[in-house]
Amino acid sequence: MKQDIHPKYYPKAKVTCACGNTFTVGSTQEVINVEICSACHPFYTGKQKLIDTARRVDKFQKRIAAQAQKAAAAKGKKAKKEKQKKLQAAKKAKVKKEK
Ligand SMILES: [Zn+2]
Repeated sequence: MKQDIHPKYYPKAKVTCACGNTFTVGSTQEVINVEICSACHPFYTGKQKLIDTARRVDKFQKRIAAQAQKAAAAKGKKAKKEKQKKLQAAKKAKVKKEK
């Protein structure tokens, strides 16, 4: 190894997870804090868990709700239009009958 270019290596660096789990690894940092580890990651636990550090899930759910509301409103308009069309068709049929 070339001298004075490598960072200090800690063969027993302590990793602490937000779930409380701790374990040691080799690292150039003495203490590592993580928010998810193999003890609490959904892939290993098989349970669903939302990790929402930037409120992305919240924002997404809000956006979906807004979209659904918009869609419902659009549906109302569409239904109105169709009703109008039916009425016009009925009027035309009536006119034809009268002729
Ligand atoms: Zn964990």
